Amino acid sequence: MSERTINASWVLSGAQAAALANQSMAIDGGKIASIERGPGEINGDGALVMPALANAHDHARVARLSQVGSYDVPLEAWLPYLTLIPAVDPYLASAVSFGRTARGGVGAVMAHYTRVQGLTDFPTEAKVVAKAARDVGIRMALAVHCRDLNPLVYDPHEALLAELSPAACECVARRFLRKPLSPADQVAMVETVAAEVEGDGVTVQYGPAGVQWCTDAMLRLIGEASARTGRRVHMHLLETKYQRAWADRTFPQGIVHYLDEIGLLNERMSFAHCIYLRPDEMELLAERGATIVVNTSSNLIVSSGIAPVAEFVKRGCRVAMGLDGLAFDEDEDALREMRLAYALHKASGFDIRLARDELMRFATSNGRFAITGEADAGIVSGAAADFLLLDWKALSAELIEPEVPPLDVLLAKARQQHIKGLFVGGREVVRDGKVTGVDLPMLEAELLETMRAAYPSTADVRAAMPELKSALRKHYTGAFYCG
Ligand SMILES: [Zn+2]
Repeated sequence: MSERTINASWVLSGAQAAALANQSMAIDGGKIASIERGPGEINGDGALVMPALANAHDHARVARLSQVGSYDVPLEAWLPYLTLIPAVDPYLASAVSFGRTARGGVGAVMAHYTRVQGLTDFPTEAKVVAKAARDVGIRMALAVHCRDLNPLVYDPHEALLAELSPAACECVARRFLRKPLSPADQVAMVETVAAEVEGDGVTVQYGPAGVQWCTDAMLRLIGEASARTGRRVHMHLLETKYQRAWADRTFPQGIVHYLDEIGLLNERMSFAHCIYLRPDEMELLAERGATIVVNTSSNLIVSSGIAPVAEFVKRGCRVAMGLDGLAFDEDEDALREMRLAYALHKASGFDIRLARDELMRFATSNGRFAITGEADAGIVSGAAADFLLLDWKALSAELIEPEVPPLDVLLAKARQQHIKGLFVGGREVVRDGKVTGVDLPMLEAELLETMRAAYPSTADVRAAMPELKSALRKHYTGAFYCG
């Protein structure tokens, strides 16, 4: 006797398979026990079942851009704006972030934890973050942030500081130029945290911020530790043209060859963005089995560019979807993110550049692999019961032609409002659009109130921001980056 049976109008079982009509799916022990033709005819009342979406690059962020006045700022100037978000209780922050992630259709998330709230020691904070993920019920990889280089710009920052008034300079130095822990201490911290929080849906990865933000010593240590322990690694790579210019100046052998030399180009790796990757680098990355995580909305919003997804796919790269805390409508809707990525990358005229099966892998199994290290079997008997139930009645309400393939309807219009349910390991994480494990509306209200109350604590950095922004603009449009 199974724990639960779901009657579906349609099942999109995974990357390769066609849609199956009128299926009955039994769930038992966290897995799909069986899936077979259902008893009745197709009707509009059932669900459209598909694998849960995976968000393979995120930061468990709590504030949307427009909330702190940082919408439409290029990445290099936007990063300092993150200090305008006051530190808050890490459970509150994480529970809201993961709750919104689940509500948006995501069953597994990469939390590249670049914003440490810092109200306690980090292992204590990490435990609380893990608890929030478990309370919400999604699978979470905590990529522990490692960073020890270039706190302000991808270069020595003395010239930039000299541009600022004494007051702004003092604030920027105090806020951004703290001495980092040694590479050995940062790497040891990852293992300490892993020993304390892994299990029950939570894993830990190394999370070096990016090559331009980590010393060679740090990256080599992570490469060695990952080879020794098998721990996965997640990092940013070539997100902007300025990062590309820095990389070309810094690594005559090429940044991707450098990563290969130091043990950071293999199946355990996932790289966020990769917008400025060159064709030979894509080929090497594909050969080594690393994953590229494309963040379409983020790339558009912080003016980083458009990732060459068709080129990635053509060269056999494993490509996954990320929201990077910057969903297009500031609503963490992963169904819309999937649609946006598809619309932007699918085709040029009759030349198909992102096939439907590749899109499904992009939005589900490839990301899940980057997060959990496990291959995903989709909606089949014996697979983990991680799936979405979409409201087929609402989605199909306006159909004139009754036989329109459900994937067409899904890609044309599905949004998080159509999510009737999200199941992860057989647990009902979202029911009728509501997160079951935490009171998300209450937590969101509490978070907003907390951030508004704490906002005056950021007055110093807010006052310095116009000067810093203009100095950053001058830096990245100046001699280091031209020609
Ligand atoms: Zn990111």
